Amino acid sequence: MTDINLTMRDIYSARARIAPIARKTPLVSSPALSELTGSEITLKLENLQETGSFKPRGAANKLLSLDPGSLQRGVITVSSGNHGRALAYVAHHLGLRAVVCLPDTAPANKRNAIQKLGAEVVVRGSTYEEAVEEASRLLEKERLEMIHPYDDPVVIAGQGTIGLELLEEFPDLDTVVVPLSGGGLLGGIAFVLKSADPKIHVVGVMMERGPAMVESLRAGRIVDIVEEPTLADALAGGIRPNQYTFDLVRKTIDETVLVSEQEIAGAMAFALERHHLVVEGGGAVGIAALRAGKLQHLGKHVAVVVSGANVDMPLLLRIAREHLDGC
Ligand SMILES: *Cc1c(COP(=O)(O)O)cnc(C)c1O
Repeated sequence: MTDINLTMRDIYSARARIAPIARKTPLVSSPALSELTGSEITLKLENLQETGSFKPRGAANKLLSLDPGSLQRGVITVSSGNHGRALAYVAHHLGLRAVVCLPDTAPANKRNAIQKLGAEVVVRGSTYEEAVEEASRLLEKERLEMIHPYDDPVVIAGQGTIGLELLEEFPDLDTVVVPLSGGGLLGGIAFVLKSADPKIHVVGVMMERGPAMVESLRAGRIVDIVEEPTLADALAGGIRPNQYTFDLVRKTIDETVLVSEQEIAGAMAFALERHHLVVEGGGAVGIAALRAGKLQHLGKHVAVVVSGANVDMPLLLRIAREHLDGC
């Protein structure tokens, strides 16, 4: 464990740095959720961020903070998901080389999306471990810079810019509800909000199926979980290795909530019907927690981070058909 040493100045610097690449996203009120809960609920729409998730914030802050030598050689990661897309997008925007290593099990549409964003896709092996080995080999050989999706103070500071936007537009907020996985998103936002007022209540939401961070928080140490298929695929996976986020999340989080697959699907259909928003499973867990009445401490003014949009359309349409009558 390494002390993270973040300051508010880091967050303001991140905001200035990433402004040309990651957009400020809208905050919209949700009359439907407000009526349901009796609190004033607003949604922070990171599903409308570039590439369909909040991840360009952290990636942009990291790439723009690298020394010129590493910038020239390029960056590398292993992710077929939102981090891979974000890294490809930011690198392309800055005219940098980006390499994304994937196992051959990564879906073709995701590979193509990353290629379209201008990154080199290297397919190697049939598991993530093998893709990681290939990435380490390339990294040494070509002296690329590995960009971690969450366990990096500079990435965390980038995600923290969401906290600044929340405070400025909604200064009386009592509670923030945040999708949780590796903890870069929650850690960054909570750092900013707790610096402004330690009384702001921070809630992390995960799926019931394989919630590594929540299990680890309960155990008081990092534990391995069995990965299970879930609609919230952006939140799946373990949280090792971990230098920063486990400690940061542990210090800043007030409450954790787990939601079922059924509740996630209901929230995706709800976002589509009531807000005309496309939200992926991992992005919808905050809405799911509110609709299920699962928060212990709601407060009067509540912001819910809607973290991503990247769902397979046929899947969303199927979920919508099955769940629309229920919302
Ligand atoms: C990555 C991601 C998260 C979780 O972010 P962490 O920093 O890993 O906690 C939540 N939602 C979406 C859509 C994501 O892509």
